[in-house]
Amino acid sequence: MLRILHQIFRTGVVTEPLPSQAESRVVEIGAQLEEAIRQRFHRSLTIRQVDAGSCNACELEIHALNNSLYNCERFGINFTASPRFADMLLVTGPVSINMEIALKRTYTATPHPKIVVAAGDCGYDGGIFGESYASLGRISNVIPVDAHIRGCPPTPVDLLLGILKVIQR
Ligand code: SF4
Repeated sequence: MLRILHQIFRTGVVTEPLPSQAESRVVEIGAQLEEAIRQRFHRSLTIRQVDAGSCNACELEIHALNNSLYNCERFGINFTASPRFADMLLVTGPVSINMEIALKRTYTATPHPKIVVAAGDCGYDGGIFGESYASLGRISNVIPVDAHIRGCPPTPVDLLLGILKVIQR
C-alpha cells in the first residue's frame, strides 16, 4: 500500500489539459448538447456503441469521449452495455459478415424511438474496406441509419457535434 502511494506521489499528474481553444469549443458544444438532451430525453441520452467491424481507431475516439478531458457524462451522455436501455446506437465500421446478425439483433433489441448514427467513413460508405467476401460495406446496407458522422476517424469534437445535430432534428 505504501509503495503504491509513494509511486502515486512520485509520478504526479501526467495528463495534459486540452488546448484552451479546444476546451472552449467542447464546453460550447456541451452546453448545447445539455440543453438538447434535457428537452428531448429528460436530461440523459443513453448510447449503445456497436463495433460492426471497424479497425478500432473509431473506437479509440469514442472512448475518448469518456476520458477526463471530454467527460461527456457532464453533458448527460451515458454509454450502456445493453441495447435495451439505449436511446441511440452509435455504430462503427463496415459491417463484417460475422457481425451482420449481431448488428440486426442489437437493432431489434433497442426500444423505439431509436436513433441510429453511423460513425466514421467506413460506416458511411464502406471506407477503405468497401464491400467484399468479408464485408457488407456501409451500415445502411444492414440496418436503417438516421445520421452519419464522417471522418477517418471522427474526432471526439466531431462525434459530439454529430450527436448534437441528430438530436436537434
Ligand atoms: S473510418 Fe477509418 S478509423 Fe474508422 S473504422 Fe474505418 S478505417 Fe478505421
